[in-house]
Amino acid sequence: MLARKIESIVAQLSDFKDTNFSQNICLALANAIDANLVFIANINYIEDTATTVACAQNNALQENFTYELANSPCEDLVNGGLCSHSDNIQQLYPKDQLLVDMGITGYIGIPLKNSANETPAILVALFKHTIEHPKAVESLFLLFSGLIEKDLEAQLFVKRLELSNHIINESKEAIVISNKHNQIIQVNKAFTDITGYSEAEVLGKDPGILGSEKNSALIYQEMWQELSQHGSWSGEVINQRKNGEEFPELLSINSIHDDQGNLTNYAAFFFDITARKKSEEKIFKQANFDLLTGLANRYFYMDKVAKNIAMAHLTDVPALVLTMDLDLFTEVNNLYGHDFGDELLKAVANRLQSLIANNDLAARTSGDGFALLINNLKHHDDINAFISKLHKAFNKPFYIQETSVYCTLSIGATLINNETETAQKVMKKAEYAMHHAKKGGRNSFEFFTDNLQSQVEQRLALKNDLQQALNNQALTVEFQPIIEVNNNKVTKFEALVRWQHKGQWISPAVFIPIAEEFGMIKPLGEFVLRTTCFQIKALNSQGFNDVIINVNRSVAEIPLNKKHNAQWLNTIRETGIKASSICFEITESSLATNNYNNEELLHYLQHAGCTIALDDFGTGYSSLSYLSRFPIDFLKIDQAFVKEMTSNKDQHTLVATIIVMAKALGKKVVAEGVETQAQLASLMALDCDFIQGYYYSKPLSGEQLAPFIRSFKQES
Ligand code: C2E
Ligand code: CA
Ligand code: CA
Repeated sequence: MLARKIESIVAQLSDFKDTNFSQNICLALANAIDANLVFIANINYIEDTATTVACAQNNALQENFTYELANSPCEDLVNGGLCSHSDNIQQLYPKDQLLVDMGITGYIGIPLKNSANETPAILVALFKHTIEHPKAVESLFLLFSGLIEKDLEAQLFVKRLELSNHIINESKEAIVISNKHNQIIQVNKAFTDITGYSEAEVLGKDPGILGSEKNSALIYQEMWQELSQHGSWSGEVINQRKNGEEFPELLSINSIHDDQGNLTNYAAFFFDITARKKSEEKIFKQANFDLLTGLANRYFYMDKVAKNIAMAHLTDVPALVLTMDLDLFTEVNNLYGHDFGDELLKAVANRLQSLIANNDLAARTSGDGFALLINNLKHHDDINAFISKLHKAFNKPFYIQETSVYCTLSIGATLINNETETAQKVMKKAEYAMHHAKKGGRNSFEFFTDNLQSQVEQRLALKNDLQQALNNQALTVEFQPIIEVNNNKVTKFEALVRWQHKGQWISPAVFIPIAEEFGMIKPLGEFVLRTTCFQIKALNSQGFNDVIINVNRSVAEIPLNKKHNAQWLNTIRETGIKASSICFEITESSLATNNYNNEELLHYLQHAGCTIALDDFGTGYSSLSYLSRFPIDFLKIDQAFVKEMTSNKDQHTLVATIIVMAKALGKKVVAEGVETQAQLASLMALDCDFIQGYYYSKPLSGEQLAPFIRSFKQES
């Protein structure tokens, strides 16, 4: 009997074309066991209800329904095992209204378990009559529950698979599933979008077809090792799209194993991180590179130097650190404008870059400061050769906006070796050397030494103190009388700045160059001029109306652009003195620079009423051509010549020649540093116009001037 029923069920099942196994089995069972209702229901444990997923009544499927589990035989079914009552079910479950409503007598139910031994569903048959062969029906239920369980699991699996396929396909992340032989068996839409390969094009292929030669073999080695040891790997690699374009991706790979631990698949997930890389690169560039020149910035350079220090013990070829300053960059910038200056900086950067090897580094470390880190110079000769290569390259002009400009370098150098401590210290040393080099003139080079360091340190300390002295108006001005020979009168003075620092007088010969180097010369010069103007005012008010005071001006005070020339007269005009009361002393070196405004400035000053003296004549450049080219009223013979003219015949001849030539050109001559009667006599015999020196007087304070002029008159 049982066998017949099974046969009928199986026959019926195989007749069904529909693929819904649950519905088919309900129909087949209902028929075979003569039940009034057979259903499969899912259990909702939270709501304590059951909802049918398949329901058959008299050869026909019924609409699904939901019912309460409480007080029903199904409740016992869920909590226990097979539940079979051939009749009187209503008496056993009096509170189950559904049984009453449907007029049910017999009940057979069986839990449908999943692999975790939970009961997600039940199979139930309801009879309006007494079940004739309950044992046979129970056996059938036991038999078919297994089939249904398998089917439900499969359905669930398919559902999960559908879900995961959906997830896979909708994922923005490219997904590649390959088998254990690493042959691709599935890819998603994102994969196609990113790589340009359709699924059909890659099925069966090794994912390695995407790889780029840019990835090091090491990466793959590490990847496979991690995969086999830990089952997963992730990292950044470069891949290639179908069109050959390379792109960076963030890749993670998992190996998948079955329950027995056998490798079955690999699943790879990747993102195209081109955009992220680009923005990272941009951020990196902004943080580490100079936007104008494209060179490394100071931060990046220091980092490289620090890395070099850390590696110094591994090599016996010390790295060379060079810091460089563009001579006269500020002047060029002021003269031609900032756009021009920017162009020049770019050209300098390119020139530097062209001089170094691939593994060397060029950086822009400040406005007009550059630095190089050079690696492979084994011998001192190599270093010297490199420095002369640098100088040579920068002795050639730059062509910017159809103008050719020269921009030489002052270079400071030091080496990184085992004893080097920090990047900061190395840089400081190179910068010390550079400042020292700059002092020795443009286009120069200096290697760092300890002696240099203390010199530079002293200089830097002095610089700070000088700045303070300027701010606190701690500088003073003295005035040295200049005597006019033919009338034997004090008609002029030279203003000389004075600085008493920590109880000591510092020579202007020491601190003026510092003021020039560190940009303090303009306020200093203005201070001297202002004090001088007030001094003239005071002398004027005492009846000394024709006194002239000479004021020294450095080359650094000469504006590059003529529109600033008027600044030289501001203070004179503000204080209301006559412009003719001021004579500006300019050195020959000021005229020797390529500053085309210097001639214009002198004309401008002369036109306003000031006079001009050429200071220290005979030192440095010594060119009488300056006297004819520039509008100069006085020529000051340097004290070095005066000093020797009475003992050295050649020097005497030289002074005599200078005086004759100057007079021929219509200039008056002032002799400086006259200390003795003999010097005075010689100079007077040569028809020198003015005498300045200790013979007559040391520099005097402002209050001493009027008394000095008066007593000098009386004396003579
Ligand atoms: P300088 O312009 O040649 O000034 C003359 C220097 O010779 C002064 O030195 C003066 O004190 C010194 N002197 C004058 N008569 C004699 C003498 O008979 N024998 C000797 N041995 N020396 C004499 P000082 O004041 O030390 O100034 C040194 C230099 O500093 C000046 O040389 C000038 O180049 C610079 N300087 C001084 N004051 C200023 C200033 O206000 N502005 C600028 N730019 N430079 C200044
Ligand atoms: Ca002078
Ligand atoms: Ca002088």
